[in-house]
Amino acid sequence: MNEYDSNRIYDLASNIGFNKTDIKTEADCFVLNTCHIREKATEKVYHEVGRLKKSFKNSKKPMVIISGCVAQAESEEMIKREPYIDIVIGPQSYHKIGDLILNYQRKKSKFNETNFDVINKFDTLKKIPILQNKISSYLTIQEGCDKFCNFCVVPYTRGPEYSRPFKQIIDEANILVNKGAKEIILLGQNVNAYNFSENNKKYKLSSLIRELNNIKNLKRIRYTTSHPKDMSEDLIDCYKDSEKLMPFLHLPIQSGSDRILKLMNRKHDTKYYLNIIEKIKKINVNIKFSSDFIIGYPSETEKDYQNTIGIIKKVGFVNSYSFIFSPRPGTPAANKDINKLETNKLRLKNLQKVLENYQLENNKKYISKFSEVLVENKLDGQNQYFGRTKFMEPVIFQSNDCESGQIVNVKINSCNRNNLFGVHKISNSERAA
Ligand code: SF4
Repeated sequence: MNEYDSNRIYDLASNIGFNKTDIKTEADCFVLNTCHIREKATEKVYHEVGRLKKSFKNSKKPMVIISGCVAQAESEEMIKREPYIDIVIGPQSYHKIGDLILNYQRKKSKFNETNFDVINKFDTLKKIPILQNKISSYLTIQEGCDKFCNFCVVPYTRGPEYSRPFKQIIDEANILVNKGAKEIILLGQNVNAYNFSENNKKYKLSSLIRELNNIKNLKRIRYTTSHPKDMSEDLIDCYKDSEKLMPFLHLPIQSGSDRILKLMNRKHDTKYYLNIIEKIKKINVNIKFSSDFIIGYPSETEKDYQNTIGIIKKVGFVNSYSFIFSPRPGTPAANKDINKLETNKLRLKNLQKVLENYQLENNKKYISKFSEVLVENKLDGQNQYFGRTKFMEPVIFQSNDCESGQIVNVKINSCNRNNLFGVHKISNSERAA
């Protein structure tokens, strides 16, 4: 989401005449787009501003803007604590960044803009030309969250659920495809809660997937991040009939213990979660899954932890994110007693070993086989390219004859845990094409 926002912030800044520079000391303006999901995010921002101060010690001070969820959470406190910061702007009001920059240039007045103004944000953004032209492009369809998991800061920093108008999204998808995107990743904090109504018609994530499936030059569709409670039947059915929807689903479970899931206020249990996996596998047994895990949630016992290991073994996730519980100020879980750090560290280490093993075993299955890879870009060095399989696995391969945006057959020769390595051999169908 922050990558999408950063691109759009750049589009807005370009619109008033700014360009990117790789030479730090040449910049007139810095935007630090921040994430508040992990601990110490706020301190990291102040450290980064400290580094800027040092770099500009002997030259004209640049404008310093803090955007994103740390800006939202800390608000004008940031300007008070660090006067080197000029503008603080939240994730639902960054569409005003152009006006704020121009205003600051004229009057040098500091500004804190952290209202939830999400409708106006997307109305403004749709008028600003999109500069990104990536083969795999992000497209935000939904923001905010009404689920209120007890550990999570998102409902407070991104605000309540908001779904963008259906047509606005399809228009943006067409712009991205016309600019060269072959894959679109639909984004939302709770992407499958997408729900938009107009003229007595209801649109859900499944409606978007089906509509995108009809865009001629688009080859792949993905979406992230989903909540198990919103994996509705119509969405699951998309795996039957939307051939561009990729057979890979990131579906966070957080814990394999029903007791912990309840304490987390996740609104689902393990049975509910496994039932979804089963339904999807019935449609296509080859679909792969990844997940998120929080280790050491307050009061987690060895039994709870072993249940989490158990669910990993049951599903066989191919690629997951796992972290030690991090108390986020203002959330209900923030004041609970924390488990011993040493125990949490050991549990995380062992859990990651199990996850890594599944990831490696999954990658090994590709060796000596051909895999369809969407070429994303050429790498430095001779005829080396980067792309991804249908299941999101990264592939680095040699080719004498391929271009970004093509889907090519790559023979996989080796792998490590994170990557597949291979050679592109031109197949008869590619030759004919
Ligand atoms: S559903 Fe996701 S974004 Fe919403 S509160 Fe829970 S973890 Fe946070």
